[in-house]
Amino acid sequence: MRPSPTGSWGRCAKAASRCVSTPPPTWPPIPGVTLPHVTTASDVLTGQIRPGPRCVVVDEDGHFTAPTTADFLAGKGCRVTIITRYFMVGEDIDEGLRSDLYARLCTQGVVLQPMTVAIEMLPGGVRTKHTFSGVETVLEADTVVLAFGGKANDGLFHGLSGKVPELKLIGDACSPRRIHDALLEGTRVARAI
Ligand SMILES: Cc1cc2nc3c(=O)[nH]c(=O)nc-3n(C[C@H](O)[C@H](O)[C@H](O)COP(=O)(O)OP(=O)(O)OC[C@H]3O[C@@H](n4cnc5c(N)ncnc54)[C@H](O)[C@@H]3O)c2cc1C
Repeated sequence: MRPSPTGSWGRCAKAASRCVSTPPPTWPPIPGVTLPHVTTASDVLTGQIRPGPRCVVVDEDGHFTAPTTADFLAGKGCRVTIITRYFMVGEDIDEGLRSDLYARLCTQGVVLQPMTVAIEMLPGGVRTKHTFSGVETVLEADTVVLAFGGKANDGLFHGLSGKVPELKLIGDACSPRRIHDALLEGTRVARAI
């Protein structure tokens, strides 16, 4: 196994095949996170895993990653629930866009479950806790998809440090954020050359 360029780790196409025993550094330290049915949004969207019929997407990002992945899974015929610890799914998305996104998700039967934290991955499911009441529930899932912001994949930068005359660290390699941050930093560095 090797880390993919996105910083996540490739998984076997067969959900039943266990590929990692310790969580990669970019994964959240949730108990059971290395279980074979747990994967990432990137691995789902790049086709590195085959999702099961019941999917739970864990949204810790608050932006497009979780809803986009849920839309993709629902389009494949999966029954999808998005959980998020925040007051709403896609809390950081512009209100106008969020309405269109919700219409798209809800017409496909995607269940949006806010104020819900994933506290433990279980074989065939995920244990959740309500943000305010603390009530715990188990959601059944064949595939649990992590939509977390991730951590900087800056190995190339450190590998080149001291070996090239000039080196800059920009975009998600510096800190995972949004496209406009990467564009702005890239523009600034390019103009400074
Ligand atoms: C599912 C998902 C949805 C998103 N939706 C949005 C959105 O709607 N709006 C928004 O603003 N942002 C969104 N983002 C975030 C956005 O994609 C990133 O912030 C942005 O792509 C960062 O750009 P970047 O150029 O820094 O990195 P990347 O786009 O990740 O590009 C880095 C490139 O470097 C390559 N690379 C990495 N390591 C090496 C190496 N060692 N050698 C050679 N090549 C290497 C990678 O293959 C990749 O092509 C989303 C992210 C995800 C995962």
